[in-house]
Amino acid sequence: MTARVCVLGPSGKMGRAVISAAAGRGDVAIASAVDRTGAAGLGEPVVPGVVATADLEAGLAAADVYVDFTAPDATRAAATAALARRVPAVIGTTGLGADDEAAIAALAAVAPVVVAANFSLGVNLVLGLVRTAARVLGPDWDAEVVETHHRAKRDAPSGTALMIARAIAAGHGSSYDEVKRHTRDGDIGPRPRGEIGVATVRGGDVIGEHTATFFGAAERIEIGHRATSRAIFAAGALRAAAWVVGKPPGRYDMLAVLGLS
Ligand code: NAD
Repeated sequence: MTARVCVLGPSGKMGRAVISAAAGRGDVAIASAVDRTGAAGLGEPVVPGVVATADLEAGLAAADVYVDFTAPDATRAAATAALARRVPAVIGTTGLGADDEAAIAALAAVAPVVVAANFSLGVNLVLGLVRTAARVLGPDWDAEVVETHHRAKRDAPSGTALMIARAIAAGHGSSYDEVKRHTRDGDIGPRPRGEIGVATVRGGDVIGEHTATFFGAAERIEIGHRATSRAIFAAGALRAAAWVVGKPPGRYDMLAVLGLS
């Protein structure tokens, strides 16, 4: 079966990557494209026969699944609009707040929804590796995460850095919200045992780099990932789109799509 996909934000960096990646696949086809009012490219074809529109209802009605790499407000609006039609969703937008998560949870109660801050196979493998490292090494090895992204990225730390840091906390058996440190400035004193630091770097056109470092006594382990093309995220999201159609309602992650959970 070919899943008909509604792509949100077709003028965006990820929206364009999703449209390009769909071209070479048989399991998905772009059926509609919905952007915000005033976005570039509205009224123009994104693929032959499919014109970008600001009409979310019409876009969802034409699709078996929607793929969302936009912004938190748009993600909330789309999840709410998809509720009545029970449209399956693949959501990659990061920087989501409590209201956005609540809208996703409401949709996931009636339709299958894949949510991932990172759709690459490599990063999802890294999550397992850092968790294992943290479990084996324990909190005596200081764990720090550094992420680097392009200058246009709005949210910080990246959703991927937070997933990696949470995986380290899970390996330590600690509560991430109690041990996290996202900023350091001034007289901060010695580093507490078990703290997990996340540092953010922004610049240029970097697509996404993440490194988890475990500092031991006289030795150090680094586990990292570098994305050099958005095509990896787009391919993962489309694989998730083909997978999610027909699944029972619920919230799924990329490990489930990859058969790794
Ligand atoms: P971008 O700014 O290039 O594109 C955002 C797109 O969303 C634009 O086309 C914009 O017009 C559209 N948009 C905004 N409001 C909208 C609305 N109400 N309805 C429909 N479309 C709307 O951003 P980007 O670099 O493509 O990133 C988008 C999001 O995806 C970010 O949150 C980013 O962090 C995330 N991202 C996730 C992954 C992943 O693997 N999960 C990978 C890369 C980026």
